[in-house]
Amino acid sequence: MFDFCVVGGGMVGSAMALGLANMGFKVAIIEPNMPAAFEPEQPPDMRVSAISLTSEKLLQELGAWSEIKNMRLCPYKRLSVWDKPSCRTDFNCTEIEQPHLGHIIENRLVQLGLYTVIETNSKVVFYKKLKVTEIAAVDSARVTLEDGQVIQAKMLIGADGGHSAVRDAANIGVQGWQYSQQALGIQIKTTDSQQDITWQQFTPEGPMAFLPLYNGFASLVWYHSAADIRHLKSFSKAKLKQHILQHFPADLVDFEVIDMASFPLTRMHANQYFKGNTVLIGDAAHTINPLAGQGVNLGFKDVAALLSVIREELTKHEHATVLQPSHFSQWLNQYQVARRRDNLIMMSAMDLLYSTFSNEHLPLKLLRNLGLKLANHAGPIKHNAMKYAMGL
Ligand SMILES: Cc1cc2nc3c(=O)[nH]c(=O)nc-3n(C[C@H](O)[C@H](O)[C@H](O)COP(=O)(O)OP(=O)(O)OC[C@H]3O[C@@H](n4cnc5c(N)ncnc54)[C@H](O)[C@@H]3O)c2cc1C
Repeated sequence: MFDFCVVGGGMVGSAMALGLANMGFKVAIIEPNMPAAFEPEQPPDMRVSAISLTSEKLLQELGAWSEIKNMRLCPYKRLSVWDKPSCRTDFNCTEIEQPHLGHIIENRLVQLGLYTVIETNSKVVFYKKLKVTEIAAVDSARVTLEDGQVIQAKMLIGADGGHSAVRDAANIGVQGWQYSQQALGIQIKTTDSQQDITWQQFTPEGPMAFLPLYNGFASLVWYHSAADIRHLKSFSKAKLKQHILQHFPADLVDFEVIDMASFPLTRMHANQYFKGNTVLIGDAAHTINPLAGQGVNLGFKDVAALLSVIREELTKHEHATVLQPSHFSQWLNQYQVARRRDNLIMMSAMDLLYSTFSNEHLPLKLLRNLGLKLANHAGPIKHNAMKYAMGL
């Protein structure tokens, strides 16, 4: 019998499994879709994330940061946001006395960095490349795998993404919607060396963003309607480049298109983060508009919060006592209180930003440009906003 069974070995689930094992719990983790091993000559993946300073700290505490750094990543020191180019807000890490504002990293490499450390931890059993066929969580959790193995654990953690089977099995409802726009991710190789700035321009059609990657590679994100994205995806690389040059801001240096992929955008919030002995973390609990690159950072905050309430319990009780039903509902509730409101605020802030910037109503347009211009000179307010976005 395991103490915890973590379903889903994405970035969030693997961080959770490792954190629990480091506290001395016996942990099972299940991941059906194992990421390919890292090879330095591989081109960058389509799925990349802006990893905040707070997420970096968690990954450092878990021992995975040095593993990720040994592969590849790109720190960014500056961040710019604008609507009209003359009304631009520029953030610089020196303003908050930090060496950088965050890193852009391929999601797969964050996973692989965590996996390397998990492999060295005898408290974790990793069930790889196996689909889950049945989940039941009554007195204890029972997860059946496609090869017939049954994993039993005192507690079940759903880290299996937006379409969480754990959430469904626990009968936890959700609220949310799919946005009418989608995101087109375009991987490019620029003629410049590695850049240290990420920027985003808002337009009525949707934002256009630049995220720097290692060795002059970069990722562009272009928000559009589903129909426009289908149209853009039908272009040859050369035609897409011409189209990008016509629409993207002049800040974009010369480049070559390498690859592209589109992503539907969904807002989803679980009505509760736990039920009985089942708890949800990361995208299984919430998915957010990726406008400000907060999704996985919120997931890592869930991990840190859950580890923190358990750590606190362990100062008062034995491991076995902490996992008794009379105890766990209390610390699970603390976790929910700590995280649900914070995630909701961030989701709503993204929606406000999204609707404010995609609105062409003249007074609103003037107001938001004035806002961006003022924000650039707002001293402490600007620094606090910056720290909040960095997760500090
Ligand atoms: C276009 C786009 C850009 C984004 N940019 C950023 C960004 O810059 N910064 C940021 O913080 N976030 C960003 N995000 C969000 C981020 O990608 C997600 O929040 C993050 O991947 C969630 O991690 P997770 O581990 O919770 O879930 P997932 O990444 O969805 O991982 C879930 C894992 O569970 C596994 N799984 C699924 N079903 C089962 C099952 N039944 N049994 C077992 N395992 C299962 C899957 O194989 C997967 O490995 C972006 C999202 C999009 C769409």
